[in-house]
Amino acid sequence: MGALDDDFAFLAATAHRLIDELAAEVTPRVHGKGRGAVLAEHINQTLDAIRARVTRDETRFAAAQSATAKATLARQLRLLVALTWGIHEAMPWIDPPRHQLDLGTAFLIDETALAMIGPPVEVLPVESNHYMYWTLSWPFEELWSENLKQPMPRGTRPIVLAYPAREAPSALLHGAFAHELAHAAVDHHDLLGTVADPLLQGSDYSAAITARFGTATDAATVRSKQNVGNQVEEWIEELLCDQLALTYLGPSFLFCFAGMVLPVTWNEPQDQHPNATMRMRFMLDTVRANHWDTLVSERLPTIWAWFEQAAATKPAVTDPITELLIDTCEAVEPEIRRVTSQTIGTSAFDAAAYANVGERLAELLNNDILPAQLNPTTAADHRHILLAAWLHAVDHNGGRPAAIPAALAQREYQRFIAKALEMSTTFTAWKRACP
Ligand SMILES: [Zn+2]
Repeated sequence: MGALDDDFAFLAATAHRLIDELAAEVTPRVHGKGRGAVLAEHINQTLDAIRARVTRDETRFAAAQSATAKATLARQLRLLVALTWGIHEAMPWIDPPRHQLDLGTAFLIDETALAMIGPPVEVLPVESNHYMYWTLSWPFEELWSENLKQPMPRGTRPIVLAYPAREAPSALLHGAFAHELAHAAVDHHDLLGTVADPLLQGSDYSAAITARFGTATDAATVRSKQNVGNQVEEWIEELLCDQLALTYLGPSFLFCFAGMVLPVTWNEPQDQHPNATMRMRFMLDTVRANHWDTLVSERLPTIWAWFEQAAATKPAVTDPITELLIDTCEAVEPEIRRVTSQTIGTSAFDAAAYANVGERLAELLNNDILPAQLNPTTAADHRHILLAAWLHAVDHNGGRPAAIPAALAQREYQRFIAKALEMSTTFTAWKRACP
């Protein structure tokens, strides 16, 4: 046996060891019940596909005659080993988190995913050591398309939803996940294609981009135009996600957005996100269009004034690219709203329905009664509970912007709200079982 053969045998043994060890850990989860089975299946199918490539390359190597052919196969195997390393990132996600979400929050997450994406879908909440919410849908889609270059088996969509580990008990803040689930919805329904493609191919955009960069076709100009096009798409996607979250969750999302985004950014445009004040302006337009403004402005006038001040704040920079991005996003604002209401449909948060129950929920909260039932026969709606809790908690902490962190500091209160979300689900399930 020559050195090339020894090297290849080493690589094949390494690949099999890594794949088999991961598969042994994942397989029992595929057949297990409960959350994580769908993600485990996706991981398992990815491992199977990598294993099949290793086996195919072993067969080819056995038949290979030239040193060049053998070296090429060895290089391929090194890539396959590197891919198995990448799978490791997903392994902690199928373990139970150390800081678990309350069951009530998990129910609200499922309900939101079903409204935005529809069945079948599996949301797997995982803790993140970064202070961030994010989602990853089909985590190894790119591995299939870019590396293996073969179609990925599809079925139930797995969505990994991360939350800041130390915020696990913050039931009020978790409404921020609605924006993250919206990213999966944008992908699922190709909403970005619907909104951004006609815009980027339209004559207005092409005139604007030519005005900024000219008509030269050298590589640097083409790349600059491409970069702006990508940024337009990223900004539109963020604005779409805000709208989807707000339309489904109602005004609660404004408080979650304020609690999560406004402590670190105000009117500074970011590479992937419009400035927060512009995002707020887009959202307040929807709040008014959906007639939720009276509710928030009457209950919490100081907070409403702060939101309006944010919405009226222009971006911190006014370079030509930022202006182009802003103008472009503003041009599609009605389209973003149209696509959002089409996607959420009749599941949109209904201000009139909340108006019928808001006072009853406030009365329960004021008397420290779990706001899970409106009366002995009617369970409270999850989104109504969340909004009533936000209004109550912010009001009781002084009603000013600083009341938002004060409300989030009330861990016991938020556990109480999560319990209300859980019990409302239980009542609904009982009622369904024994009508
Ligand atoms: Zn986002």
